[in-house]
Amino acid sequence: MNELVTGHYKVVVIGAGFGGMYALHRLRSEGTETICFEAGGGVGGTWYWNRYPGARVDIESMQYSYSFDEELQQEWSWPENFSAQPDIERYANHVADRFGLREDIVFDARVNSMRFDEGANIWHLTTERGDEVTAHYVISATGSLDATNVPGFPGLDSFEGDWHHTSQWPKEGVSFDGLRVGVIGTGSSGVQAIPEIAKTASHLHVFQRTPAFTMPNNNQPLDPDYEREWKDTYAERREAMRTDQGLSMFPPKYGAILDMEPAVREAIMEDLYASRSGFNLLVAFNDTMVNAEANELLAEFMRNKIRSIVTDPVVAEKLCPRYAIGTKRVCLDSGYHATYNRENVTLVDVRESPIEEITPRGVRTADGEYELDILVLATGFDAVSGSLTRLNVTGVDGLDLRDKWKDGATNYLGMFVAGFPNLFMIHGPGSPGVLAQMIAGAEWQVQYVLDVIHDLDTRRVQRIDTTAEWENKWDAEVQTAASYTLFGGTDSWYKGANIEGKPKSFMVYVGGYDNYSRRCREQVEADYEGFVLSP
Ligand code: NAP
Repeated sequence: MNELVTGHYKVVVIGAGFGGMYALHRLRSEGTETICFEAGGGVGGTWYWNRYPGARVDIESMQYSYSFDEELQQEWSWPENFSAQPDIERYANHVADRFGLREDIVFDARVNSMRFDEGANIWHLTTERGDEVTAHYVISATGSLDATNVPGFPGLDSFEGDWHHTSQWPKEGVSFDGLRVGVIGTGSSGVQAIPEIAKTASHLHVFQRTPAFTMPNNNQPLDPDYEREWKDTYAERREAMRTDQGLSMFPPKYGAILDMEPAVREAIMEDLYASRSGFNLLVAFNDTMVNAEANELLAEFMRNKIRSIVTDPVVAEKLCPRYAIGTKRVCLDSGYHATYNRENVTLVDVRESPIEEITPRGVRTADGEYELDILVLATGFDAVSGSLTRLNVTGVDGLDLRDKWKDGATNYLGMFVAGFPNLFMIHGPGSPGVLAQMIAGAEWQVQYVLDVIHDLDTRRVQRIDTTAEWENKWDAEVQTAASYTLFGGTDSWYKGANIEGKPKSFMVYVGGYDNYSRRCREQVEADYEGFVLSP
């Protein structure tokens, strides 16, 4: 759709990633007047933007896919266990075409303001390219990892080579052939990109502030028998996923690692390390995320793996994380640590020697200047809340969402924000979002939001809001759930700790999707307890 869009819609969807596409599909199927604004030039959201070399999903593709349409899940075939970005983008395009979604998606249309009109109970939305619409309801499906974090390195603009952030990767690709490359950042994106970049760069300097725990993804082409097994029993498997804490299927847990004889636990960890997903190791024991001693056993097992792979013992120690495993997002990789055995790769510890500035020729740390032709920033995101605050959202009494959230992204049930009526967040702060299988989570939340909208229609309610009191109660549930785990002890993007000035508050509900969905339903069934409904 190219022409500028104006007019009134019952529901505007923001974002054509997997959450937004599903919301749009459901609304269109019901005949609801709707439109979707997408900042990118195509569908896929995260999987449209993050096209850096090596980008790959870390949940098996048989699971990380839509469940809502049996024909879709039967007809689609994934080439690998863990699909690479191009295949996931291809899938997103297939879904958009199959369900005719493009008719109602406005591409290259980044929403740049949203204002609630209290008299009329409608949202006014504008986009950067000039669309101006009103909507009774807004579903924001803007993703948890959308707002790019470019740290304020002094001198970045002076760099004479090209620089790229992993989440804004040029569609035409980037050649590293024979170039001196610098990568800043060793989270999931850096860990995936570094082995690929090292293959063709003349030299790669990796600037690491905090090492990451990363598991081998042991990726393989999808075995046709395995695919058949899944497809023959998709209905039961999807149901099993829906009742799982993280909306995923993992092998059964082994019990408490602390109760095991050393030889037994070592054997289990070795097995899981070599299994089809390294994540199996992270979820295998019921005490590793809640008990520091248990966690340390797993963490040390992983450190020993690093020591066994990396030949230079000094480099190996620098690559060993010292925080509790799992409290920062664990990565899945393909040959990450072995990359440091290459002659053309150097690890620069910027915790020891911080980056002082970017110069026209490269990166200067406290140790000296590293000359580079090209620079890659794998420096992450203003996660979870950043994609919403960047939309310039104004609620009742002219309240700016950035002001509302200046001390923390308060919300009710991870979907509602007091003073911002008729706005539904998919994967918002306070929801299980990034710590559950995100496509399945989006399907659940979209269904919930549509049920609420239908109910409001029946009750002839014009406006749904919540209160600060109930936001505080929900935040207490979110923080209590986190307090039973080790998450709180580490600075991570889950807490907003990666962004200077962002309030540190744990933003993900870790009490399990089963509990989360039950709580959301309970509050509606209790005659909308915690909500303010206005006729
Ligand atoms: P990230 O996990 O936040 O990692 C950013 C990296 O940049 C960290 O190593 C961070 O160090 C470093 N950094 C940030 N600012 C810096 C500075 N000023 N100086 C030096 N280093 C700096 O971001 P990401 O790797 O893009 O991953 C974000 C999330 O996206 C992941 O956790 C995951 O949920 C998702 N993701 C998933 C996949 C997948 O499914 N396979 C792939 C990529 C991303 P500190 O740790 O010290 O802050």
